[in-house]
Amino acid sequence: MTMKRALVCGAGGFIGGHLIKNLKKQGYWVRGVDIKFHEFSPTQADDFLILDLRYPVNCLSALSLTNGKTFDEVYQLAADMGGMGFISVADCEVLYNNALINLYMTQHAAETGVGRYFYSSSVCVYKDMGPDEPPLDESQAIPANPDNEYGWEKLYSERVAQAFGRRYAMQVRIARFENCYGPEGTWIGGREKAPAAICRKVASAPDGGTIEVWGDGTAVRVFTYIDDLVEGIYTLMQSDLEVPVNIGCDERVSVAELVQTVIDTSKKKLDIQYVTGPVGVGSRNFSKDLIKSLGWKARCSLKKGIARTYPWIEAQVKAAAVEAASAAEEVVAEADSVAAEAAAMKSAAPTAASNAPSEAGTRVATPPPSQAPSARSSASRSNSNKQ
Ligand code: NAD
Repeated sequence: MTMKRALVCGAGGFIGGHLIKNLKKQGYWVRGVDIKFHEFSPTQADDFLILDLRYPVNCLSALSLTNGKTFDEVYQLAADMGGMGFISVADCEVLYNNALINLYMTQHAAETGVGRYFYSSSVCVYKDMGPDEPPLDESQAIPANPDNEYGWEKLYSERVAQAFGRRYAMQVRIARFENCYGPEGTWIGGREKAPAAICRKVASAPDGGTIEVWGDGTAVRVFTYIDDLVEGIYTLMQSDLEVPVNIGCDERVSVAELVQTVIDTSKKKLDIQYVTGPVGVGSRNFSKDLIKSLGWKARCSLKKGIARTYPWIEAQVKAAAVEAASAAEEVVAEADSVAAEAAAMKSAAPTAASNAPSEAGTRVATPPPSQAPSARSSASRSNSNKQ
């Protein structure tokens, strides 16, 4: 039997990275595409292309294979996205960048004869809910009233995928993910989602300290562990379900319960201070009947999932602290050496100034100690950005 070929867009991201590992286990030949390499582990894809998928020519490059072959399956997970901290301020980026990626990827996948196309949507397509409302099923996303632009774009791109699927006889599968978490996801920088942000805050806090949490802790969410989500994606992709399908676990928890689960896992004693911040909708409650009809069920509880995620984020926090300490030491050493050089030049100044113009020039060119560290650190920053 010939190996199935899969293209994973967003392969440098959290879910894309885990999905590739799963597809490799299933025996696929996999190409990954992203604007960046994966930050936390080397890719297991057979081929990895750095491409900006907002441009049609790059979508075509991503899809092109030798000898006129096409991909059997395309998994479209590329998106300009993040947690509420990002989504609440990046309306234009989310609408513009993600619509371009989805328009061009869908069109070119359909036109190049891709067999099956997976689109990663979100439960953000649904309206806000009260804590005691009964579950919404997939059809109840319409009439639409998503809470944010991220949800509106997802809803629009679902329809783009369905329309191109109908016209080109491309099988389209759409999953609406609940909040997903696990190791090797964004944990710092403003795009991290709630479980990663809470793990980071707890790992960074001293035992007996206090952590700040956005909102009042009452918002209700479903957090799905990455391994369950990836299995759900694969199960749906192999199925005959043509309508959008919710994927998430059954355990509904408040943000306060999430925070307590992380604190318990850390074995620290911490106080929680609830502060004003972007929280999003009040509650989530969605039917999982469709995905369960395929035999899929989330197996990992929040407690188990956090027990697997917290140690990974704690290790990142510790590694970042070591790196910051060594960078600070480097800056202090640099400042000391500049100060020593300046002192040496000062003591040599009376004779040097009168007899040696070239040394006077050296003195002028030497930056004052206060400037040297920042000049150096900005140089090393720009180098690391290039990698
Ligand atoms: P992620 O940010 O880790 O991965 C997205 C990847 O897309 C990133 O690596 C990013 O570099 C890449 N990307 C962004 N712009 C690109 C461009 N112009 N060209 C090529 N690549 C580009 O996010 P994730 O958590 O892995 O999410 C994957 C998908 O699942 C997204 O579509 C997201 O909206 C959806 N989703 C995720 C969650 C969740 O909880 N993580 C929930 C609902 C839906």
